[in-house]
Amino acid sequence: VNILAIETSCDETAAAVIADGKVILSNVVSSQIKTHQQYGGVVPEIASRKHVESITYIVEQALEKANVSLQDLSAVAVTQGPGLVGSLLVGLVAAKGLACAAELPFIGVHHIAGHIYANELEHTLQYPLIALVVSGGHTELVYMKERGSFEIIGQTRDDAVGEAYDKVARALSLPYPGGPHIDRMAGDADGTIHLPRAWLEPDSYDFSFSGLKSAVLSVLNQAKMKGTDLNPAHLAHGFQDSVIDVLSEKALKAVRQYGAKQLLLAGGVAANRGLRQQLSAKCEEQGIPLLYPSMSLCTDNAAMIGAAAFLKWEKQQFSSLDLKAEPLLSLEKWGAR
Ligand code: ATP
Ligand code: MG
Ligand code: FE
Repeated sequence: VNILAIETSCDETAAAVIADGKVILSNVVSSQIKTHQQYGGVVPEIASRKHVESITYIVEQALEKANVSLQDLSAVAVTQGPGLVGSLLVGLVAAKGLACAAELPFIGVHHIAGHIYANELEHTLQYPLIALVVSGGHTELVYMKERGSFEIIGQTRDDAVGEAYDKVARALSLPYPGGPHIDRMAGDADGTIHLPRAWLEPDSYDFSFSGLKSAVLSVLNQAKMKGTDLNPAHLAHGFQDSVIDVLSEKALKAVRQYGAKQLLLAGGVAANRGLRQQLSAKCEEQGIPLLYPSMSLCTDNAAMIGAAAFLKWEKQQFSSLDLKAEPLLSLEKWGAR
């Protein structure tokens, strides 16, 4: 079963061919980072236009690298949401066009299901499991009782982790996206600045990162006002330490409470070295198997969309060609339909 998958939910134009939901035949990602960097973040209008410019070429590349033609495909899959509506539309229209022209089944995929199932391209999943989704727009603890079922047991009440990383990086005058820069700075730091942790109610799996972000800004402002020297690496370290502490604590608690067999990391922030290392150490201590994708499969790509599309292929649940882009598509509903 060869699925051609397309992903254009944000600022990566991506296409991939995935065999049997597991084997990557090709995985082409064209990032628009350079374009958006000068604005300090993604400009939606520009993102859509860039997708239009590159989508045809990226899909051709994916087919060519996989050494398959449209006749060798079993289905065409595409990210339906969540994401920027203008960006989603470009991928959706391209995928529908191909599915229609080649008379192939068409599958709309949830972007976060993609991030989670990126793990299946490299690991064997065992249920029940807990997935810790940490990305640019999402921070969620997802309980998965079985394959393809998603229950969100906790989520951020304000900023997503990646968003907090990018905002803190911006305050430290680092380029967009700031996550990898903060990660590197924190890793090299020879000291730290202790910052608060937002634990919320004792029984809650929810998160909050806006207070932490404000704490960073307030430390920066105070140093500026008093004219004191501040080591930005120490601040990056303190920020990352607080983030990792709260994420790990809540994720491990969920694993124990739900009797999960595995803990999965998913999303762009799963590329964070500090998070991977510290969570690995804690999981090892507690005998919990931890899975995370390779670096390049953590951030947005189409291989993960192909992996998640296979869930629907198995059930022969196809989408109709009038499927709409859904910027706020629900993971639980997508899984259940
Ligand atoms: P979503 O998946 O929620 O729709 P998105 O697709 O924009 O959002 P991703 O591509 O999954 O987000 O992840 C991008 C985010 O990951 C950015 O905020 C970026 O700063 C962050 N990120 C990438 N690498 C790292 C890292 N090493 N450490 C911390 N954050 C990182
Ligand atoms: Mg991106
Ligand atoms: Fe993403």
